[in-house]
Amino acid sequence: IRVYCRVRPLSKTEKGNNNKNIIQAPDDYTVKVGTKKGEKEFQFDQIFTEQHSQENVFEDSNNLVQSAIDGYNVCIFAYGQTGSGKTYTMIGDSGQTQPGIAPRAFQRIFDLIQENKRKFSFSVSCYMLELYNDKLIDLLVPSGGGDSAKLDIKKDKRGMVFIQGAIVNEATNPEDLNAIFTKGSANRHIASTKMNAESSRSHLVIGVVLESTNLTSGAITRGKLSLVDLAGSERVGKTGATADQLKEANSINKSLSALGDVISALSSEQSFIPYRNNKLTMLMQDSLGGNAKTLMFVNISPADYNSEESATSLTYAARVK
Ligand code: ADP
Ligand code: MG
Repeated sequence: IRVYCRVRPLSKTEKGNNNKNIIQAPDDYTVKVGTKKGEKEFQFDQIFTEQHSQENVFEDSNNLVQSAIDGYNVCIFAYGQTGSGKTYTMIGDSGQTQPGIAPRAFQRIFDLIQENKRKFSFSVSCYMLELYNDKLIDLLVPSGGGDSAKLDIKKDKRGMVFIQGAIVNEATNPEDLNAIFTKGSANRHIASTKMNAESSRSHLVIGVVLESTNLTSGAITRGKLSLVDLAGSERVGKTGATADQLKEANSINKSLSALGDVISALSSEQSFIPYRNNKLTMLMQDSLGGNAKTLMFVNISPADYNSEESATSLTYAARVK
């Protein structure tokens, strides 16, 4: 697993409020956060700052799209507190003037298919789910959010996770994938928090299954690109929580801990990997460990008032590295 850290710029409001930037990136691999208890330093595979564009951030993911076409299970996910830039990284800004990893990957998939179409025929299909309060919701059900009761996380003979009962849409071009994604996003549960009214308290999982058939030998290869925009990792106290929000926070906390446990078990080469502790890790099971390729973004805010959350996120990410 590779872990990248991305620091968003201070927002206009934060600059207006005279918030200070407490993050430093002295080189491409080191990030320092100033907290009340002093400065903490962390190392990652790459640090992206406001100097890096969406295109720069996608450069590495580029190869991962090729890997998914070659038959690997690839997972790219973003972790961080609400408002830290997860959705910006994974999907882009709301107006899509700065598209993120998902739309770029969708384009790249079909560019690669185009390049290889003399030798292979391809099929591309996609599911899109939300995990909210430990419940799976099918985002591709036509009339706004699916009946979760009939969804079941399963594995096929080759260990690829599939969601029994979930709608799978076929795509023949990037526009199809974008349209599927837009439809799913419209269905997404949005719970507002004090920190960022638009942010979601649910995990979003997009699975793009790529199947290629060698036109000469007939051999079939299947890979998957999973894109995951995790729910905000912040502690609840800060959001002035209602009972419902507490329940959400508790469920988010459990799933993010389970994810941390799985990844740290994998990186310390333990023989037992606790995938089955949570639906999130069951969903991501085929994309973590084995010969899967995993890229994690830890997104952080640079603002002084977020310093504790930033330090907590970086600690989490350093633990799974
Ligand atoms: P999250 O999904 O973690 O809650 P968002 O992705 O919604 O956070 O980001 C919060 C705000 O900051 C959004 O308005 C977003 O457009 C902006 N933002 C996040 N990252 C960047 C970045 N790298 N450059 C410019 N704006 C960013
Ligand atoms: Mg978000």
